[in-house]
Amino acid sequence: MNIEEAKKYHRMDAIVVGAGLAGLRAALELARDGHEVAVLTKVYPTRSHSGAAQGGIAASLANTTDDSEELHMFDTVKGSDWLGDQNIIEFFVSEAKKTVYEFEHMGVPFSRTEDGRINQRAFGGHQKPRACFSADITGHVLLHTLYEQCLKYNVHFYNEFQVFSLLVEKNISRGVVAWDIRNGGLHTFHAKAVLLATGGYGRAFKVTSNAHANTGDSLGLILENGLPLEDMEFVQFHPTGLFKHGILMSEACRGEGGYLTNGKGERFMEKYAKEKMELAPRDVVSRSEQTEINEGRGGNGDDYVYLDMRHLGEEKIIKRLPQVRDLAINYLKVDMINEPVPIQPTAHYSMGGIPANINTEVLKNPKGDIVVGLYTAGETSCLSLHGANRLGTNSLQEAATFGRVAGTSMSEFVKNNGLENLPANETDNARGKVSALMEGKGKERHSVLKEELQENMTKYAGVYRNEKDMKKLMKVIKELQARYKKVTIDDKGDAYNMDLFEAFEVGNLLSFSEVMIEGAIARKESRGAHFRTDHPKRDDKKWMKHTFAWKTAKGVKLDHTRKAIIYMDRFPPLERKY
Ligand SMILES: Cc1cc2nc3c(=O)[nH]c(=O)nc-3n(C[C@H](O)[C@H](O)[C@H](O)COP(=O)(O)OP(=O)(O)OC[C@H]3O[C@@H](n4cnc5c(N)ncnc54)[C@H](O)[C@@H]3O)c2cc1C
Repeated sequence: MNIEEAKKYHRMDAIVVGAGLAGLRAALELARDGHEVAVLTKVYPTRSHSGAAQGGIAASLANTTDDSEELHMFDTVKGSDWLGDQNIIEFFVSEAKKTVYEFEHMGVPFSRTEDGRINQRAFGGHQKPRACFSADITGHVLLHTLYEQCLKYNVHFYNEFQVFSLLVEKNISRGVVAWDIRNGGLHTFHAKAVLLATGGYGRAFKVTSNAHANTGDSLGLILENGLPLEDMEFVQFHPTGLFKHGILMSEACRGEGGYLTNGKGERFMEKYAKEKMELAPRDVVSRSEQTEINEGRGGNGDDYVYLDMRHLGEEKIIKRLPQVRDLAINYLKVDMINEPVPIQPTAHYSMGGIPANINTEVLKNPKGDIVVGLYTAGETSCLSLHGANRLGTNSLQEAATFGRVAGTSMSEFVKNNGLENLPANETDNARGKVSALMEGKGKERHSVLKEELQENMTKYAGVYRNEKDMKKLMKVIKELQARYKKVTIDDKGDAYNMDLFEAFEVGNLLSFSEVMIEGAIARKESRGAHFRTDHPKRDDKKWMKHTFAWKTAKGVKLDHTRKAIIYMDRFPPLERKY
């Protein structure tokens, strides 16, 4: 190895891909245990999507009313429409308080009650106010605090490094190969344990609340390694995306007392969820909005309804929701103090992802066998905690709690295992991807393919779905995949080659979208966020099961043998009404 090569080879105990809440929490745990840990992230750590979270982080602290873990568990089970694994949910709610107090002790500036305790606001589907918050910048303060802690414990940060391939051989993870965005060139990261914490992937849709970086890169990498994804058909549409932009107006708006009205000025939730009204879970509220829009009762007959905050008054809006107010002013020129804000459902959260067990070890099949040394946590993983629908504020909590679990599991693994050899010619796969795009002779543009995918996903696989539309969509995806093989990029340079990394991202979007839609076509029932107008009922006899999906030469292979874990004596399935 010469000096130049040595600069591109990095040996660590553990590698964390992703610097959101999940990745940073894991890295902190590993570093505190004295391990050499590298965090690789394609965006600067504090720009990870976790920082965009507004509303809060759930825990049954009972600081403003009575509450209990059992109630938090029940709400999460019901929210999941009885697809969430109840052993995971039980563990999650029991760890949630500890996670919040840990953040408090690290110095997170939570909003407080009059008597100085952490304040908690109401959120959809939670019977009690359980969202611990910091005005409407909760994710921002959590992320910054964790980042500072990681710096304190000497975590090695490789910012603007994008992972292009996983090094898994003979079922053992050995590291990753990443593109150095700033300078160009591939680097090999060799380690005993690897965590995939690459966040959500809402960018498959046109109208989405997700950041541009949320392209599901690790899902594409898992699939190309012959490994499965789980429950990909479950995509959450958030009811209050800014009209046309999809940018989020936090659920905290309704938590603080905001109403939804249609074009006739009616509070339409009365018809759909009499008891919980605007604070029914997201899937229920999004469907109600879409029905109003489809039946011609949108604002000005257009594809939106209104979020009305005026009755809360200027003082409360400015104190509790300053960021969302600014967003509406900047993007729609609407000030919520004086006017209702036009909103529509927006692709927001992905319940499915890389299957993992309670220790965050990646599963290679529905029986529960693992890939040695490979871990996943946060939104990109599927444990399955949220089942068919996630409750708001449960996902910051998931990312932090299971980030910590990942750190602990990896730490144990690293102590007890040696470093495996790298596969021969370990950079070949990543190098092949780069040269196919740089040297290709085709005429296709990745940005065009991406737009077509997003348009069609929003049109045919949104809040309401049916077989006919989704089959049309599958045809489009297959055509786009064929055209992707002919993508060439114009920029042939090394430094900040956005053309290159965006082209790589589009490949991943196209890859997992196929899996998402095949899973959605196969699931002939309506559960949680997956609503089929041609199969409008939940079917517990056939479908209280998880979907495992692989990509093969012949297309997507599905398996439905893994049953949801239900505690029949405590939380048997009920009709889900709000
Ligand atoms: C607008 C918005 C508001 C939200 N509000 C709330 C809320 O109030 N409460 C709540 O509980 N949840 C909320 N959520 C959901 C929650 O924020 C996310 O689920 C959670 O933060 C995800 O954390 P993460 O660590 O898994 O991923 P992220 O924070 O998304 O981090 C992903 C990381 O992966 C890195 N990465 C990705 N691909 C690669 C690659 N190929 N190579 C290297 N690095 C890569 C990125 O650089 C980034 O650092 C919100 C989501 C959105 C979009």
